Amino acid sequence: MGSLLFLALVVTAGVVWSCMTTRTPCIEFLDRAEAAEVFGSDAFWYLSLYRQAESVAKGGGLVNTDENDFRQQMLRVNSRCHDWKPSEMEMVQQTIREHRALQRAKWRLIKADDRVDFSYPYTIGDCVVLPANMLAAAGSSENRLSLAKTLLHEHVHILQRQHPGIFDTLYNAWGFRRAARIEIPADHAERSVTNPDGLDAWVFSCPDGTFTMGLFLEGDKPVKRAFRVSGPDEQDAYVAVGEPVDLREISQWLFGIEGCYHPHEVHAYLVSERAFG
Ligand SMILES: [Zn+2]
Repeated sequence: MGSLLFLALVVTAGVVWSCMTTRTPCIEFLDRAEAAEVFGSDAFWYLSLYRQAESVAKGGGLVNTDENDFRQQMLRVNSRCHDWKPSEMEMVQQTIREHRALQRAKWRLIKADDRVDFSYPYTIGDCVVLPANMLAAAGSSENRLSLAKTLLHEHVHILQRQHPGIFDTLYNAWGFRRAARIEIPADHAERSVTNPDGLDAWVFSCPDGTFTMGLFLEGDKPVKRAFRVSGPDEQDAYVAVGEPVDLREISQWLFGIEGCYHPHEVHAYLVSERAFG
């Protein structure tokens, strides 16, 4: 396991290093108009994956179920970003200056309405989306450390997007295999939640079996679940069988990390945890 973690860090460090062009932190704080443009250009396609339940849950009370075009509605809701306050920009600049692992990346940052997307940070294109409440809470040094961890985690997601497939060998060594398609029982599929940082399909094999993992709504909150799968068939498709399994039951086969349901998430988690402890 140690050598795999080391390999993860070395591979990622190599990619991070290739992005380093200057020693001065390069940070672009997008205003709400610029952020709306990014959502329109880089998020529009995956918003079509959202079902009604996901749109309503992620919409934070701003989605109207009488209107059917959830993609347009989510685009409108996601585009309700905030402009940055000078104090927030200063705090983020200070956080990035404080941590060597963050200093040389090129940052494009969006401040999102924290009513939407469960207040989760995530990435679109080459931008990191940070919920407003995370910035408001980041005043103390402890919270700034948590912000730093989040920034590095999200930066790894941007590198994964910019270099598709580069980490596949590593993910294969961890037990993940790409799947052309995974069929989930309809009642669960209706309540599935899209992760913009983990849009491609993978299955995970361990001594307990082969699983697909993901986020599913329970009420209006996302929970992480696994399903056993059969397959693959000749088209490399898998079918989920039986009742969902608590992800914690198989976390022992994923470095003991609870709740990482996609190889990109495992990777980003390992890098930021190793960098910041
Ligand atoms: Zn992530």
